[in-house]
Amino acid sequence: MQRLQAFKYELMPNGEQQRDMRRFAGSCRFVYNKALALQKENHEAGNKFIGYVPMAANLPIWKREAGTAWLKETPSQALQHALKDLEKAYKNFFAKRADFPRFKKKSHSDSFRYPDQKQIKLDQPNSRLFLPKLGWLRYRNSREVLGEVRNVTVSQSGGKWFASIQTQREVDQSLPIATTAIGIDVGIARFATMSDESCIAPLNSFKKHQQRLARYQRRMSRKVKFSNNWKKAKAKVQKIHASIANARKDFLHKATTTTSQNHALVCIEDLQVRNMSSSSKGNSEQPGRKVKQKSGLNRSILDQGWGEFRRQLAYKVQWRGGILLAVAPHHTSQTCPACSHVSKDNRQTQAKFLCVDCGYENHADVVGAINVLERGYRLLACGEPAQSGRSVKQEPTEATRKSTRSAVGILVL
Ligand SMILES: [Zn+2]
Repeated sequence: MQRLQAFKYELMPNGEQQRDMRRFAGSCRFVYNKALALQKENHEAGNKFIGYVPMAANLPIWKREAGTAWLKETPSQALQHALKDLEKAYKNFFAKRADFPRFKKKSHSDSFRYPDQKQIKLDQPNSRLFLPKLGWLRYRNSREVLGEVRNVTVSQSGGKWFASIQTQREVDQSLPIATTAIGIDVGIARFATMSDESCIAPLNSFKKHQQRLARYQRRMSRKVKFSNNWKKAKAKVQKIHASIANARKDFLHKATTTTSQNHALVCIEDLQVRNMSSSSKGNSEQPGRKVKQKSGLNRSILDQGWGEFRRQLAYKVQWRGGILLAVAPHHTSQTCPACSHVSKDNRQTQAKFLCVDCGYENHADVVGAINVLERGYRLLACGEPAQSGRSVKQEPTEATRKSTRSAVGILVL
């Protein structure tokens, strides 16, 4: 089977290369925003969506125009890719997977991509990478790149530049070494609780750094905007943001690696993180309740990175030949694993589960995880197609739609 994998390295550019990369990222952002504005205007005029091909036909025109002639200095394919990104953002919006595309802000999305492998040269023994219009770039060679290079994305974060090299290679479909199955319940107090009663403590990376972040944000706000001191303070704020993101990434990778190594079948709740974290403010007709508490919860949910946890789990479990099942989350915390009695009263406090029918007692999160695993088993036993090794987004069948024990979306990447 083909495996796509990205390898990310810190670049060590010289001054000229840094300036060029900033310029390229700026040009790509400019093109993205210009196309988005055009798309909006076009829509307001009552016209149909402009697809990638007619949109990209504007690029040579913009390059000829006096005000935007500097676009010529940026690699054409990177500019084209920015337009492809916009098209993808629209498609995700049309498919209700994402919000309406937004304009990109400076230093918020400093990145651009070289989509053509023929233009890229990778010299691993000498730790250098050749990219069009940048020349040879040195990088911190922290690990070997495996497979054939497909494309390279250059990005900036916290004042550093990175290259993410995406490759493709043929690998044997590995058979799982582990034989056990596990159910996972995700939560706020504990990041994840396993059906074998082990758990992963929450990271709360954002909370931990929040005060530090607030302090530096305050400092930034006291400076004259766009002055040198303001820029310095801003760089510091961005650095804190980057370190938060790194700590979280590291945490999630460790958690998903261990889980995928130890278990052949991993069952999780099919939580819609987007729904859970949707705005608590409501709208003018239906103002939200408990806005403050809920926005705190939202921050915790987004902070935990459950969506990313699931994404990593999906591909890592599949790499190791295992299966990831997403089961319906209804009443997992209120159902008794011993006698199947479902009642709100079973859940006495946030942490304690005590069955009012049979007296079964356990930690509420463990009960949730046991129920998730149970549902995973039923799903397999009912012969639901849950194969690994292919991208499967399962549509619920008539039978599963009626049952709460259905696979809502088996995501095996
Ligand atoms: Zn019971």
